[in-house]
Amino acid sequence: MKTILPEPKPSPPTSDFARRIAPVGNLPRTIHHTVRDDGVCMLTFDRPNSSANIFDRETLEELRQELDFIESAPQIKGVVLVSVKRSIFIAGLDLKTMGENPPLAGVREVIEFGQTLFNRVAALNIPTVAAIHGVAVGGGYEISLACDYRLAAPDRATKIGLPETKLGLLPAWGGSTRLPRLIGLPKALDFILAGKTIAPQQALKLGMVDELVPAERLVAVAARKIHEGKPHQRNPWLLNNALVASAMAVRLRRQLLKKTRGHYPAVLKALEVVTRGISKSIPDSLALEREGIVELVQFESCRNLLRMFFLQERAKKLKVGQASSLSPSKNEKSETGATPVRRAAVIGAGVMGAGIAQWLSARGLPVILRDINTEQVARGMSSIAKIYRDGNKRHVFTPREARDGMDRIFPAPTEVPLRHVDLVIEAAVENLELKKKIFHRLDELAGDETILATNTSALPVSELAAGTRRPERVVGLHFFNPVHRMQLVEIIAARQTAPEILQRAVSFAQQIGKLPVVVKDSPGFLVNRILMPYLVEAGNLFENGASPADLDEAMLDFGMPMGPMRLLDEVGVDVALHVAQTLAASFSDRMKVPAILGKMAEAGLLGRKNGRGFYLHGKTAEPQPNPQTAAFVQSRTAAAWSRQDIQERMVFLMINEAARCLEEQIVAEPADVDFAMILGTGFAPFRGGPLRYADSVGLEKLAGAMELLADCGATQFKPCILLHNLAADGKKFYSNS
Ligand code: NAD
Repeated sequence: MKTILPEPKPSPPTSDFARRIAPVGNLPRTIHHTVRDDGVCMLTFDRPNSSANIFDRETLEELRQELDFIESAPQIKGVVLVSVKRSIFIAGLDLKTMGENPPLAGVREVIEFGQTLFNRVAALNIPTVAAIHGVAVGGGYEISLACDYRLAAPDRATKIGLPETKLGLLPAWGGSTRLPRLIGLPKALDFILAGKTIAPQQALKLGMVDELVPAERLVAVAARKIHEGKPHQRNPWLLNNALVASAMAVRLRRQLLKKTRGHYPAVLKALEVVTRGISKSIPDSLALEREGIVELVQFESCRNLLRMFFLQERAKKLKVGQASSLSPSKNEKSETGATPVRRAAVIGAGVMGAGIAQWLSARGLPVILRDINTEQVARGMSSIAKIYRDGNKRHVFTPREARDGMDRIFPAPTEVPLRHVDLVIEAAVENLELKKKIFHRLDELAGDETILATNTSALPVSELAAGTRRPERVVGLHFFNPVHRMQLVEIIAARQTAPEILQRAVSFAQQIGKLPVVVKDSPGFLVNRILMPYLVEAGNLFENGASPADLDEAMLDFGMPMGPMRLLDEVGVDVALHVAQTLAASFSDRMKVPAILGKMAEAGLLGRKNGRGFYLHGKTAEPQPNPQTAAFVQSRTAAAWSRQDIQERMVFLMINEAARCLEEQIVAEPADVDFAMILGTGFAPFRGGPLRYADSVGLEKLAGAMELLADCGATQFKPCILLHNLAADGKKFYSNS
């Protein structure tokens, strides 16, 4: 089952045969059937007023009616499942069914209903073909598994996946039962446990689809398959036996526990269901799926992961302010009313500039990439070429797409006119005076309509805006590193930014497939501001004798994807120092930059970028603790602290800073904080973000523990006013939960 898609938007024009199909009954339906002269029944999915097909209760009921019809129509020689949506086949179960605290009986019922219907598809005595074009994930792929053949169009839009475990669930509409029987236990487990979604070419290699067929020939080839008749049942897999399954269950369970530290029950349950189900009958295996999912929806981790899914969907549709009187009227407008960006320029071809230029070019935008000289531009172009090469290896781009992407980038080692550029993104080195000069010059070079954006990590956007003649058209667009992996973009509203420009920045992030969060201009914005006290505290604890391994292990145990000392090495000790100094200058009451960062930078221990930081970084081996750093330890006070002590200190500071961001209205609501911290830093997703986590601990308890630390002299732990007041009133950050 699962994974659905965005909210309904008007459907694009449908294909020819869809237009021929009349809706059944008075209400618009998702599923339509038509029986061709050759006896092939086309079951067409076309959810009204939506770009996506999903399985909600009504659609399941329609499927039931269609199956009644098919089973009673002897003239039907076979069934072809198709979608007429541009980029979606079927995106799975409507996840709202699983929402907050769903009634368990309801979950069991909807799962059982889906299973029964898909069993009926599997039991038809005529051939069935899933003709997949677009996204077939969760239930969309599981219904395909119930068909005799799976054809897939080899387009960029087509994606095949079972992402349930990523949402704290498991494939329970037959995915955990039928996939191992189709491709063998080891490959199926690898796919299901990782919650993978893959390109059709990879699906073909795995045996998850039978053939790749160009979209325009899907129906013809599907009809041919029908006339060829039912395929022979595949031989049972050698590896699909109870002995192999139980050996795999033991080995993989150990590995999963090590990897997830027990925080993600869904992967363990999926492993159990698949390995036990393989030696059972299909109905018994499906019963295991059902019981498994009913168990999983009761976990807090599942609720948090689902919430995160909905927050991502929300970000895709986010609107702010009033669009768009400043926009040129003749251009085509997006759904929000904001004019899409057609041409862009990126200033600075370093780590971020190159990353941003690559991303924009891959999304079809022509981009000017400017740096101070040929050498710097060439370095940027070569890192862009590498991202394309790697993407090509992972089937993200075809060689042709990669070439076209590269061709859309115009390297500029000297000044070029920017009059016809819609958006300039400055990503030069983090230095306010330099950025001010750059903005001054950009203001002269750019057209009146051009939006000027900065990718600064922490510098005041309003000051940059003030130095231009167009302060209302200046905005922050804070991408995260590496740009091609990180989905979040902080949209920073300077004091002067016009609402229309803010909306255009948000729409631009959506246009290029990133997820925006709107934040007020304030030191460190949102994510770095909350992350920095955590990293600073890690530095403090290190100076006081906690080893990098202890600190990292403690936070990995908490559920962070990477420990703070490794993170400092990845970010770069010099970069972290600079951001910490910027923040400490503004928040001197509570933030003091630990001496260790300066000493490390001075000693040239910058982290991964030069191979030496808190760890020694080889080309291949796991980083090893760097003995050189022992010289910077000043005391042994924290040497014997427990993991829990370390975790509490580190996380309390994040929560406190997150609460301050709410207090200062840096963002509009708690969900913005949690969403951005999970996407921007990987904050333990199963905990729902720092504020959701704080609520689950209980604010009174939390504030009490923080007061105790503050009373012992660690004043940075003093709860902020908002946290103090909520705790005193027995309230939560999320008042409705
Ligand atoms: P970098 O040092 O890798 O690249 C900076 C580039 O800017 C260099 O190629 C340099 O030659 C160029 N440059 C300097 N002066 C210039 C000028 N006058 N005109 C054009 N180019 C000029 O730095 P980076 O890591 O890419 O960071 C760039 C910006 O992005 C900074 O503001 C940084 O704070 C921000 N940022 C960095 C990260 C990160 O993880 N590296 C993440 C988010 C934001």
